Amino acid sequence: MRFRSIPLFRIFGIQVNLDFSWFIVFFLISFTLAEYFFPHYYPGHSFVVYWLVGAVSAILLFASVLLHELSHSLVAMKFGIPVKEIDLFIFGGVAMIEEEAPSPKVEFLVAAAGPVCSFTLAFLFFILALIYPVDDLINGIINYLMLVNFALGAFNLVPAFPLDGGRILRAIIWAKKDLLTATKISSWTGTAFAYVLMLFGILSVIQGNLLNAMWYGLLGLFLRNASKMSYEQTKLSVILSGYRVEQFMHTVKPVLPDETVADFMMYYYPVYRAEIYPVIGPDGRLYILDVRRLKEIPQTQWAVTKVIDVAQPMEVYVSPYDTLLKAIKLMNRYQMDQLPVVYGNTVLGVIKRDVIEALLERYYLQEKLQGS
Ligand SMILES: [Zn+2]
Repeated sequence: MRFRSIPLFRIFGIQVNLDFSWFIVFFLISFTLAEYFFPHYYPGHSFVVYWLVGAVSAILLFASVLLHELSHSLVAMKFGIPVKEIDLFIFGGVAMIEEEAPSPKVEFLVAAAGPVCSFTLAFLFFILALIYPVDDLINGIINYLMLVNFALGAFNLVPAFPLDGGRILRAIIWAKKDLLTATKISSWTGTAFAYVLMLFGILSVIQGNLLNAMWYGLLGLFLRNASKMSYEQTKLSVILSGYRVEQFMHTVKPVLPDETVADFMMYYYPVYRAEIYPVIGPDGRLYILDVRRLKEIPQTQWAVTKVIDVAQPMEVYVSPYDTLLKAIKLMNRYQMDQLPVVYGNTVLGVIKRDVIEALLERYYLQEKLQGS
């Protein structure tokens, strides 16, 4: 259900994007409000007015969703967890919180921030409705926003991972046991809740309400996938943060800057068989020689080309004491399959993606054999 997204604006350093699927739900909400909700409770207005008020309410609903996600993000950032972007899409919003929380307490606070924000908004609209008791369309918008913010807070508090309530449940179990067990249990509840929603979908089909049926069905599918994926991701993080780069790195000797490409291909490449090689430049800085780039140079030029002429300044690297999790994240972020391992000013070797993947492969095999 995710399509290409439109970048909207940046706030607190976070990029806010609007997914194309948002337009579907924007239309559906405006439609429901303009054709049913407002004409029923506030009769006597024109078609255009109802649609205008419906659209304004739908936009304010999404502003509320954005505030909910911003609350998660700001609390995460306060604890040093980077948040790159917030995506608004068909089922609301999602904050791209880059890392797992460092402790159950932080997990709890980040998760609770969203519902607290929604309930606070609901309360503020409740007060606003008391201050403005006129029975008109503005009062209608206020009442609608009070209701949806309350519903948003309540729905997210269902203890079904990765909904906020599920994250709160995970934090509570994590405080007593370990993160992986906590994630496993809370993603079970997530999957169970997803099936309950799908069951509602089937019941709606029987009642002949196809729009509701579709809604429940899609939301159920989405939650089931999300709970499975979040569990897999946590498992990956837990496994990979248990190992250091030095345990898996591949030793590679630095290449001298005035070595020719021909000599490099003859004497280095067959020995180390890595894709990237550190080069210590004449300026004392570190450069990276990428074998894939060498293959773009015609072989007739190899004897007269020096490695330093085709090497690139080294910008991304890991320390031997970094975790494999950090290594794989950097590889993903910079779309690299190998990273240099640097300690101080010394290049010790490279860490390869396929070595990390082989390690994960063994874990999954072991898990299958144990039948869990
Ligand atoms: Zn939330």
